[in-house]
Amino acid sequence: MKKCFFTAIVVTVVAQGFSPAISAQSKTRAHVETLASPKLEGRLAGSSGEKLASDYIVAELQKIGAKPLPGRSDFRLPFDFTAGTRDGGSRISVGTQSFATQTDVRALSFSDNAEITGDVVFAGYGIVVPDTQDFGYDSYATLDVKDKVVLVLRYFPEDADQKTRAILARYADLRYKALAARQRGAKAMIVVTGPRSPNAGETIPMTFDTALAGSGIVAASISAGVAKAIFAAVPDKTLEAVQKSFDSGNPHVAGFAIPNSPVTIRAAVEREKRTGHNVVAYLPATTPVATMAKPWVAIGAHYDHLGHGEAGNSLSGKDEAGKVHFGADDNASGSAAVLGVAATLSKQPRKRNLIVGFWSGEELGLIGSSAFATTPPVPLDQVAAYLNFDMVGRMQDNKLTIQAAGTSPVWAKVIEQANVAAGFDLQVQQDPYQPTDVATFNAASVPCLSFFTGTHVDYHKPSDTADKIDYEDLDRIVDFAAAIVRRVEDTTDAPQFTKVEQQMQTGGGRAGVRIFTGTIPDYSNDAKGLLLSGVIGGGPAEQAGLQKGDVIVEIAGQTITNIYDYTYALDLLKIGQPSKLIYVRDGKRIETTLTPAARK
Ligand SMILES: [Zn+2]
Repeated sequence: MKKCFFTAIVVTVVAQGFSPAISAQSKTRAHVETLASPKLEGRLAGSSGEKLASDYIVAELQKIGAKPLPGRSDFRLPFDFTAGTRDGGSRISVGTQSFATQTDVRALSFSDNAEITGDVVFAGYGIVVPDTQDFGYDSYATLDVKDKVVLVLRYFPEDADQKTRAILARYADLRYKALAARQRGAKAMIVVTGPRSPNAGETIPMTFDTALAGSGIVAASISAGVAKAIFAAVPDKTLEAVQKSFDSGNPHVAGFAIPNSPVTIRAAVEREKRTGHNVVAYLPATTPVATMAKPWVAIGAHYDHLGHGEAGNSLSGKDEAGKVHFGADDNASGSAAVLGVAATLSKQPRKRNLIVGFWSGEELGLIGSSAFATTPPVPLDQVAAYLNFDMVGRMQDNKLTIQAAGTSPVWAKVIEQANVAAGFDLQVQQDPYQPTDVATFNAASVPCLSFFTGTHVDYHKPSDTADKIDYEDLDRIVDFAAAIVRRVEDTTDAPQFTKVEQQMQTGGGRAGVRIFTGTIPDYSNDAKGLLLSGVIGGGPAEQAGLQKGDVIVEIAGQTITNIYDYTYALDLLKIGQPSKLIYVRDGKRIETTLTPAARK
C-alpha cells in the first residue's frame, strides 16, 4: 500500500499478537517467504531485488500454465519512471549578491532545468481559486507577470477565518501555485516561507516526485536572506509587514512589482531515471463463449516494496533506517494471494480469460498499474472486473475489509454469497479512491474490489516480516476471492460499472499535512467519526488525552464523520493554537483541547 497523506499519519499501532499456523499445505507461505526474503532486498521498483522477485513470479506463473498476454513474448512489461530527484546546484543572484547553497536556494522537485533572468513581481500567496468555486480569490487579479519572476509566499493566509482557510488551503499546493504562475506567462516562480508561517525563512525540502520531466516553469524556494535581498529594492516594505497584510485572507490585498531589481535564477533538478517491470500473464478461457460481453477478468497485486527505504516513504525509526524493508504483508501477501487464486482457477473451467497482474512502482505512486492502464495490452473496456490484493496477511479477529464495493451494483450480492462458505467478519467499504492499484482500475471504469486486512505496527518498517503473516487466514482469503472471480468468469453478463463520487476534492489541497496532530486513524473501519487505532507517544493527541478506540467526532467546530472530513479539518487548525476537540469513548462525548504542532 502506498503511503498517502492519510497514511503518513500512521507511525505506530498497538501490536496484536497472533500465532501463525504451521501448515505444510499452505497455498501462500512459500510465496511470501521467498518474496520477503533478505535476498530480494525489499523489492524496490527498478532494483535488482525487483528483478529477482519478477523471476520468481514468472517461474510460478509458468508452473500453472499461464501465458504472456496476446501479442507478447514476455511476462515482463517495462515502464520508465523517475526514481528520485535532488538539487544539482541551483543558484540565484540578486543585484551583486549571489546565493548557491541549499539553505538559500533549492529547486522544487517539479521545476524545469533552466536559467531565467527577469524582474520580480510579488504575488502574495500566489493562490488562484477557480471561478467554479464561487469564491473570488486571485493573487494575480491586478498583476502583469508575463515574462516575470513571480515571488510567492508558501502555504496560505495565516489569520483568515476558518471558511476562507478551508477554501484557500485546497489551492495552496506548490504544484498548483506553479501552474497558476505559468498560465499567466511567468518565467519562474520563487517561493519564500514567510516569517509568520511555520518553517519560516527555510528552503523547502525536495519531495519525492516521479514525474519524468519538469512542469514547464522554473520553480525554486529561497531563504529569508534571499527574500531580504530582493526586498531591498522596496525599502518602504518588509516581508513580515507585507505577509501580515495578506494574512487576513482579504482578496483585495494586491501584490506589486519590485522595480529595477532583476534576479537571475538557475534551477537544477537531477532526475534519476529507472525502468520498473510489471509482470502480467493470463490463463486463457477453457470454454470461451463467443457472445460473452467483456471476455476478460483480472486479478492483481503490487509486488514492489520500499527496498531500503531510500524513496522516503519508510516509517522506520532512526535506529532501523536504511535496513531492508521486507514487505511481507505489504505486499508479498497480496502477491501470494494472486498466485494462489490463479493456481486455484488454473485447475477449473473458465468462460473468460483471466489476467494475472503483478504491479511494480505502487509504493512510489501507483506507477506500474498506471503505466499498464495508459497503454493496456488488453483493452480495459473488455475487462469485466478487477480484484486487487494489498496487505492481506495480518488478519485480526476474522475481520476482512473489502474496498471499492461501490463500483458495481453486483458486488453486494456476490460478496455475500461467497462469504457463506468463507464466514469472514466483512467490513465492506464503497470507496474505490484508495492508496493502492484499485484506484487505477476504478479510474479506467472497471468494476473492482480490493482486499485488505488492515494496517499494523510494522507498516512500512523493516519489521514487516514473513514470520508475522497469518497464513491460515491468507489461504482462506485466496479461496474466498477465487470464488468471487469464478462467479464473474461464469456469468455471461459483465458487472455494470458505477462511478463513485469522490468524497473530497483533492485540488492540490495537501496543505493539511503541515499540521501534526499525532493521531493514528483506523482505516479499516466505517465508524461515524474518526476511529483511532492509536496515538503517537508525546504527540498533541496524546497530550489531549486521546487513546486507541476513541472516535473523534468534532474538531475546531467541524463535524467529523470520516477520515476525509478530518484531513479537511486539519487545514483549519493553526499550529500552536489550542482547538476544541470532541471525541466519543464508551458511548460518552468528551471535550478536550488539542494543540497541533508543526510538521516539516
Ligand atoms: Zn506500502
